[in-house]
Amino acid sequence: MSRCVEETSTTISNLRALQQKLDQQLNEDINEKMYWKRKCELLEQEVKDLKSKKTEPVRSKIATMSSEVVDSNPYSRLMALQRMGIVDNYQDIRNYTVAVVGVGGVGSVTSEMLTRCGVGKLILFDYDKVELANMNRLFFTPEQSGLSKVEAARDTLTNINPDVEIHVHNYNITHVDHFDHFMNTIGTGGLQGNSVDIVLSCVDNFEARMAINQACNELGQVWIESGVSENAVSGHIQLIHPGRTACFSCAPPLIVASKIDEKTLKREGVCAASLPTTMGVVAGLLVQNTLKYLLKFGEVTEYLGYNALNDFFPQFNLKPNPTCDSNACLKQQKIWAEKAPVQKEEEVVEEKVLHEEDWGISVVDEEGGTTSEDLSVTEGLRLAYTMDKANNDNLQENLVSVDEGTSLEDLMKQMNQL
Ligand SMILES: [Zn+2]
Repeated sequence: MSRCVEETSTTISNLRALQQKLDQQLNEDINEKMYWKRKCELLEQEVKDLKSKKTEPVRSKIATMSSEVVDSNPYSRLMALQRMGIVDNYQDIRNYTVAVVGVGGVGSVTSEMLTRCGVGKLILFDYDKVELANMNRLFFTPEQSGLSKVEAARDTLTNINPDVEIHVHNYNITHVDHFDHFMNTIGTGGLQGNSVDIVLSCVDNFEARMAINQACNELGQVWIESGVSENAVSGHIQLIHPGRTACFSCAPPLIVASKIDEKTLKREGVCAASLPTTMGVVAGLLVQNTLKYLLKFGEVTEYLGYNALNDFFPQFNLKPNPTCDSNACLKQQKIWAEKAPVQKEEEVVEEKVLHEEDWGISVVDEEGGTTSEDLSVTEGLRLAYTMDKANNDNLQENLVSVDEGTSLEDLMKQMNQL
């Protein structure tokens, strides 16, 4: 009996010892786990710190723009515009918000120029990533490959000028899920919760332009459309003031024509050409007109084309089409007519269009991609696609630019004779 008790007691003490050992092992495991967890946390923090260090701007924010001429003042040369009598109050630029839609070849350079000019707030929209194939353009660098364009742009721009408030949206504005957010951002994204001051379209496709057109027509938001041709040697900018000037739906977009056959551009496996030079010029024209619009100096051009082959810059004014497909456009036309009849008359008087005598248009059938050379007077402008007869008549009456030489009206008449 006592032997049995003794054996049991030994077993129990063995069991206890084993239990203790297990507990100890378990504690060690837990400690090791905790150790590695902590180690991971520290490393994560280190990565975070390094990342924030990388994007931390070199200089701190500057509370007030100064015209003081010292090497450390990034605004002295901009503020000198006041002393030169070009701009009344340059620092007003800090009150303005600009939305840039599309941060590609034109949009990225546009954003950089606005940042260097010290605009108050920039809102960037794009859903693309930086690729090595983009390196023929300005702004992005090879190590940014794979990053989203808007985030890469935000890092670079914040470093260039930390005074600019930069908001980015990494999505496609044409998606149903994002359109409302896009429109709401345009409508309330200003520095005081107001609408943005201007929207700059730097997108490369029709759908995105139509989405911007729709949002801006509904909001009565002024925007500037920009484009570069697929053969990389022409481009344009077009101011769209809903109700006052033609919207993107009012007429087929006017694009600068070149003698290059469009059919060579639209083959499968052939990408569009692009030149940093043409995109830089178009971005420059876009921002120049944005500065003139915001700071109220000089004249804002309504339509300005650029043909790189002969350095030709055609200009037009485009009136809205009373039979425009966009109901929101018609509504804005009504508002504009009621709001500013006097201004309207003044604008008609002021509609002087500087132009060369030797420009023309050609008509392109979007479906077949055929170009009617018969209508090309010389190199100049052409419509991006044809309209039906009824719309052409309206276009003649309402969309022509007013000038004393060859007008778009004359050219549209020629087009109707087809
Ligand atoms: Zn319209």
